[in-house]
Amino acid sequence: MPELRFDGRVAVVTGAGAGLGREYALLFGARGAKVVVNDLGGSSTGEGSSKRAADVVVDEIVAKGGIACADYNSVVEGEKIIETAIKNFGRVDILVNNAGILRDKSVANISNEDWDLVHNVHLKGSFKTSQAAWPIFKKQKYGRIILTSSNSGVYGNFGQANYSAAKLGLVGLSNTLAIEGAKYNIHCNVIVPTAASRLTQGILPEFLFNELKPKLIAPVVVYLCHESNTDNGAIIESAAGFAAKLEIVRGRGTVLRKSIEQETITPEEVQEGWSKVTDMAHAKRIDAMTRASTSLMTVLEDLRENS
Ligand code: NAD
Repeated sequence: MPELRFDGRVAVVTGAGAGLGREYALLFGARGAKVVVNDLGGSSTGEGSSKRAADVVVDEIVAKGGIACADYNSVVEGEKIIETAIKNFGRVDILVNNAGILRDKSVANISNEDWDLVHNVHLKGSFKTSQAAWPIFKKQKYGRIILTSSNSGVYGNFGQANYSAAKLGLVGLSNTLAIEGAKYNIHCNVIVPTAASRLTQGILPEFLFNELKPKLIAPVVVYLCHESNTDNGAIIESAAGFAAKLEIVRGRGTVLRKSIEQETITPEEVQEGWSKVTDMAHAKRIDAMTRASTSLMTVLEDLRENS
């Protein structure tokens, strides 16, 4: 198979000073991309800052013959990170939104600050960088965006209400960016990683932790960002060399009204039909909001015909 290369491309990776982001940046660098290594260099709970994290990774890429520059801004100021790409390399083609922090507490104990900071870094940060890159991507009719979600968002996890909400919010953001970007060849996809890092140390069991090398997820993310990849709006879960597509599906459902003339339904009628409402045996993905409306029109037409 020919090697997948990124020569001439510029990749911005946020939170690339450690963990998953570092591996993404190293692989992009090794495959010929010019890399903006962004990292605020703070603690895992979002306090402080340091230039060291980004600098070390830039040095690693350069030592291996690659091209990279550092950026120390918080993703909340996403426009500054994109400016760094333009100032140093004159373009941007790939944006991997990866920076992240945790402020784990059970729901009763989450302060406004815990909620806001987690949302700002994950959700607002990804929005800010993507919005800043958008006009450039649009003009050049090319862009690849990755947003980073989490199993905590997809399935929920005790003690992570703030993080779960932000992480599933990113799926919503990706769904719409994928639609708005499609005609400009801007693709947006979501990665749902599980990897050993400072965010998961002490949370994952040790035997699992040792198997979950961030290096094994980097090729999945890098491939998703390659020009040969046509996915747009996908959610890809990956860990330990495993990767799979995730989808939100809807059951077949049922019509709780008996006829088009029936203007209201009672809670008892809902109760009666509940097993059909919740039956997932023939669940399917609805790939666009318009398709959901179309299926609603069919329901109404059927009701009218059968009245
Ligand atoms: P990590 O702590 O090793 O790396 C995150 C990096 O983001 C750090 O270097 C940190 O300094 C940087 N960062 C934090 N806030 C920033 C900000 N405001 N601006 C710029 N940089 C900032 O953690 P990781 O496990 O590699 O996590 C990477 C991403 O993957 C995160 O979004 C995380 O939520 C997500 N994720 C990780 C796992 C996992 O199992 N490790 C699971 C699900 C999701």
